[in-house]
Amino acid sequence: MDGKKMDRTKIEQGIRLILEGIGEDPDREGLAETPMRIARMYEELFGGLTEDAAVHLEKTFHVEGGEMVIEKDITFYSMCEHHLLPFYGKAHIAYVPVGQVVGLSKLARTVEVFARRPQVQERMTAQIADALMEHLQCAGAMVVVEAEHMCMTMRGVKKPGSKTVTWAARGVFQENEKLYGQFLMMVAGSRGQ
Ligand code: ZN
Repeated sequence: MDGKKMDRTKIEQGIRLILEGIGEDPDREGLAETPMRIARMYEELFGGLTEDAAVHLEKTFHVEGGEMVIEKDITFYSMCEHHLLPFYGKAHIAYVPVGQVVGLSKLARTVEVFARRPQVQERMTAQIADALMEHLQCAGAMVVVEAEHMCMTMRGVKKPGSKTVTWAARGVFQENEKLYGQFLMMVAGSRGQ
């Protein structure tokens, strides 16, 4: 990535304008430090923009065989790029290694890289799968993401608790229905706990 730094001052100015725009007094006690707080928070929430998934996926170790590796129920928080409201839920990842695997915590880090930026769920799902294919050089990758979108539930379009489910299949998961089914069964097995 280009290592672009965030401009805190601009964020602060923007939040101030929003507060004025909604008819608030940005100088009243409770709001005076809000632009600064949000600017700091955005550095964290959008920190994935300046990160590269390759950093987390480059350290692999050798394994014999190529059995599917599954990491499920990776909790994530992202921001919908259409409304800048959170969407959050769980990501489930599977890949079929070719001689090399990555530490399981690195899969969660990879999810974070793509979650911490203005996003749409479909793209995030695809980006995670593509990053695994590219950096792990695995035989296949599959990602399922289930999330609740605040822009739906807060505005009453959908009922709270309703989930949007997206998935992306690459490599052997596109060709091998059995593998695909196995993964979905494993993911479904985590429900209702
Ligand atoms: Zn939205």
